Amino acid sequence: MTTAITNATLIDGSGADPAHNATIVIDDERITQVGANVAVPTGADVIDAGGRTVMPGMIDCHVHMLYHPASLQERLLTPPTLQTFYGARNAKATLDAGITSVRDAGGTPQGFKMAIDRGLIPGPRMKIAVTALSQTGGHGDSTMASGVRVRALSGLGPEWPENVVDGPDEVRKAVRSILRAGGDFIKLMSTGGVLSPSDEPGHTQFTPEEIAIMVAEAAAAGKTCMAHAQGTEGIKNAVNAGVESIEHGIWLDDEVMAEMKRRGTFLVPTLVAPIWVLRNAEKAPGSVLPQSVRKTKEVMADHTASITRAIAEGLRVAMGTDSGVGPHGYNAEELEHYVACGMTPMQAIVSATKVASECVHIQKDAGTLEAGKYADLLIIDGDPLADIKVLQDKDRIALIVQGGRVHKNAM
Ligand SMILES: [Zn+2]
Repeated sequence: MTTAITNATLIDGSGADPAHNATIVIDDERITQVGANVAVPTGADVIDAGGRTVMPGMIDCHVHMLYHPASLQERLLTPPTLQTFYGARNAKATLDAGITSVRDAGGTPQGFKMAIDRGLIPGPRMKIAVTALSQTGGHGDSTMASGVRVRALSGLGPEWPENVVDGPDEVRKAVRSILRAGGDFIKLMSTGGVLSPSDEPGHTQFTPEEIAIMVAEAAAAGKTCMAHAQGTEGIKNAVNAGVESIEHGIWLDDEVMAEMKRRGTFLVPTLVAPIWVLRNAEKAPGSVLPQSVRKTKEVMADHTASITRAIAEGLRVAMGTDSGVGPHGYNAEELEHYVACGMTPMQAIVSATKVASECVHIQKDAGTLEAGKYADLLIIDGDPLADIKVLQDKDRIALIVQGGRVHKNAM
């Protein structure tokens, strides 16, 4: 089946100036022609964009699809199967928000990704980390002071290998287990964090040797690593070991930014995550651990300052929200903060399209509107280059196409 979208103001995701009066031709799941001088093939279904903006479906490089804001009690009372149905709800909300691909940073097993691939549930196409490796007592160890282990991001069993590991042998085996379980990326926690019960964001976690083993084991399978990294030392350990993307990056210093630039390391800011921690705490007092509220308040200003400097330095910033910390489907709010931190609206869009596709390793198929790539695209009622916030308004996303399939048509 051939579809032509005509009369489009085209933002192709590459950062190029918008093209007016553009036509995009879609054959089955892929784009076959795009540009200002493209003729509509005879027999094609025509969607007249009426001069509205056509842009690539957005890509969120850091979500937790099976996780949503919930109190400790609620989490304890939720069986994994029920959690999976919440995940299906979250996946649809994400696609409804114009996010056509995501990288899941932990918690989502292979079977969930397969359900989307097979069309059983609507959702963004996924790359998954499956779980997130943590040292004992580290950011991914959800053992509470009582001794009870609350699995925040995962169950336990073949779909979710053990994630709390120490020393070269355990680390090596864990990476191999995650790869066996379908991991597209290896996620590790190289510092403490905000939501964990017993560490601080500035703490350094895993030794450089342990991280180097993870990177090498991932590389042996053609994969790369992403690190939750907030404190400066832990960021440096991850970058120097060859981790490909730094998540959060609260305390970047000049030295590590220079090294990230040299290596092309991605930075995934997740600026909305701390905002949602405080919103959750306000909306449902007691639903967030008291130490998490304290830590969030302590880091927020430094986080914003760090990302502002990274943008000024020209690091490769890829859009990521940590959705799951906040509710799913509000992803585009993140871009408003990139603009506040110094990006142009076009740069913010590119962070969620071209750069994000490179971070998630799907640039051959997605990220820009080019012949040969998947027809993952949006029609926006409004000009995101004039006001990036229009992308947050679902009523202004008039059309969502994913892999040539129309998910929403409110034209
Ligand atoms: Zn996360």
